[in-house]
Amino acid sequence: MMSAHRKKILIADAISLVGVSKLEEFCEVDCDYSVAATDIMEKIADYNGLIVRSRTKVTSELIEIADQLEVVGRCGVGVDNIDIDACRQKGVVVVNSPRAPSIAVAELTIGLMLSLARSLPYCDREVKDGKWPKSEIEGFELYGKTLGLIAMGRIGTEVARLANAFNMRVIGSDPYVSKERLAECNVLAVDYDELLGESDYISIHAPLTKETFGMIDMAAISTMKDGVRIISASRGGLINETDLLEGLELGRVAGAALDVLAEEPPSTTKLIEHPNIIVTPHIGAQTAEAQARAGIDIANDVIAALAGQKVRWRIV
Ligand code: NAD
Repeated sequence: MMSAHRKKILIADAISLVGVSKLEEFCEVDCDYSVAATDIMEKIADYNGLIVRSRTKVTSELIEIADQLEVVGRCGVGVDNIDIDACRQKGVVVVNSPRAPSIAVAELTIGLMLSLARSLPYCDREVKDGKWPKSEIEGFELYGKTLGLIAMGRIGTEVARLANAFNMRVIGSDPYVSKERLAECNVLAVDYDELLGESDYISIHAPLTKETFGMIDMAAISTMKDGVRIISASRGGLINETDLLEGLELGRVAGAALDVLAEEPPSTTKLIEHPNIIVTPHIGAQTAEAQARAGIDIANDVIAALAGQKVRWRIV
């Protein structure tokens, strides 16, 4: 069997220490977390493996001169910073760590839903400001409400599991997942229009594609229940933010909680200043556990690729 021993890996963006330690058991590891693109170009020829997050761009120019490179590990999910075609053409394996953040994102989604239902950020701000707005606050329970999940992949499924524990009625729409699979998660499969019309809360867990870009627009909002609450910890771009603001201003949308925005950080503040919106700075995967899991997953797959073994999360 081939081995990853003594192969050289450059970690260009920080990953968890458990991931680094795992790699060090098998390989020679250099960590250079602030390495600039030009410096990577100068040193990449020496390395068999390169690990990045979203900061470092793995361009076709870099791949072209990376003569020893066998594997690129993207610690995280999106691979838009990696020239996948260039890697494919040169036979460089690309792996990522898509399952690592699922629990963290799902738990944040429930947190955002509760924050909307009970106005938690508002209460906190008011009390810190010396006020005591108890009598003006009337929240809502999640119990018995209908949660519509757009997309039932890893994160959507985990949200369903948690929402079921709150005794919510969970419905889901995912054109690529069977209704039997949804039923196993105690989720009723409905079509997209039914989901929009029946849900008290709508949470989006689809990837950003040509098909999903702007899927929550005014046409969609106008078919939703009056007073719907919308949550997105998926990707900016799935929600048309101009239309969401209009929905909030019209009162059709009672509240929205977003962990992701079309532009991050945002250069305009009109949407995020609306009193009925809660925004977090794309922290879905930012838990100690998710980061550790991502580091270990990426280390295992990079070691496997360098040893010529089957990798679990292969992109190419
Ligand atoms: P996944 O690949 O496991 O699931 C995606 C699901 O979307 C699949 O089941 C697919 O069938 C479905 N889908 C595709 N097009 C659809 C459509 N038009 N309508 C309905 N469903 C559709 O992905 P995941 O790991 O569950 O991630 C879900 C989302 O969360 C992605 O957008 C991902 O980028 C995002 N994410 C966000 C964070 C964060 O920090 N907030 C972290 C990780 C992932």
